[in-house]
Amino acid sequence: MIERILSIIFPNRCPYCDRIIKFGLTECEECFDELDKTPSISHTDAGITCISAFRYDSRVRRSILNYKFKGVSFNAKSYAKALCSAIEALGIEDDFDIITFVPLTKRRENERGFNQSRKVAEMVGEYFGKPCSALLEKTRNNKNQHDLNLQQRRENVKGVYGICKKADVGGMRILLIDDIVTTGNTMAECCNVLRTGGAENIICMSVATAVQDK
Ligand SMILES: [Zn+2]
Repeated sequence: MIERILSIIFPNRCPYCDRIIKFGLTECEECFDELDKTPSISHTDAGITCISAFRYDSRVRRSILNYKFKGVSFNAKSYAKALCSAIEALGIEDDFDIITFVPLTKRRENERGFNQSRKVAEMVGEYFGKPCSALLEKTRNNKNQHDLNLQQRRENVKGVYGICKKADVGGMRILLIDDIVTTGNTMAECCNVLRTGGAENIICMSVATAVQDK
């Protein structure tokens, strides 16, 4: 009810075109029709396979930037919905027991006010009735992967992630969620850490993929 009243005073806007949308929608009908809803399966340079809801085109890119850097948190609903649809389309909803996300350092998370991947992961967990929790921590800041070449990207993520002190990933089948996959090095390193911790299986998913088709 409160959400409905708020939506009259502060109407929600489509994450992809900024048009005002009706209460209950997560994006406008035009964008919903136009967005490619076939899950993308990317084979990354880092050797991991990642399932993504969207290609990282200009519309999705702008929406994710607004979400991450301007705090347009409403956008997470559309991303989570798209990830849930991808999971159902591929029939993998019974292939994981717990959901987790690529962590930020505490400092970065405090600066941003939230972890963009966590919010989406929690919504996916709610939808499937599965737990979502922080299994990984980022123990130190590294350079922005954006500014580095392939070899540097690989080195840049080494030793940056660890298992959270209270987490036990032994024997777990984990769904790992990030916002964007590019070379896959961040996800590959997170997978390494989880596997070393004893995880049985890890499925990697991202909202968008910027991996070029080969
Ligand atoms: Zn739209």
